[in-house]
Amino acid sequence: METVFTRIRDKQIPACWIYEDDQCFVILDHNPIVKGHCLVISKDPTPTLETTPDSRLAHMILVAKKVDAKLRACLNCDATNIVINNGPAAGQEVPHLHIHVIPRYQSSSMAISFTHEPYKPGEMADLEGRLKL
Ligand code: AMP
Repeated sequence: METVFTRIRDKQIPACWIYEDDQCFVILDHNPIVKGHCLVISKDPTPTLETTPDSRLAHMILVAKKVDAKLRACLNCDATNIVINNGPAAGQEVPHLHIHVIPRYQSSSMAISFTHEPYKPGEMADLEGRLKL
């Protein structure tokens, strides 16, 4: 399946490339949450975690770790958000697995905000039982 990221991978559209190997590549997100926001993108366009081989996922998180180190060293950021939007209902716009690595600064008041959904009595224990792996 063709995606915007396969078109970038195949150099059909330009991007700012940070890294490439046989399994993944890293570009700058063109609409950054924070400047320096990187995307670690699988070369094979599996859409989600569930459809991606474990070995590739493991490799990509190690590449994200290298990107994190580079962002800290180069941009002097204090932290990063490492995010996978895993499916459209989670906000995934490009159905081609990628890991966001977003530089964050102590001085910044920006927070990635989620609303919270409180449990009703008994609901949390019920889920604990149902979700055990
Ligand atoms: P997601 O919502 O997790 O699928 O994120 C897709 C990300 O890809 C967004 O943050 C977009 O800004 C980014 N993006 C889409 N097209 C491009 C492009 N041509 N170059 C760089 N980043 C892109």
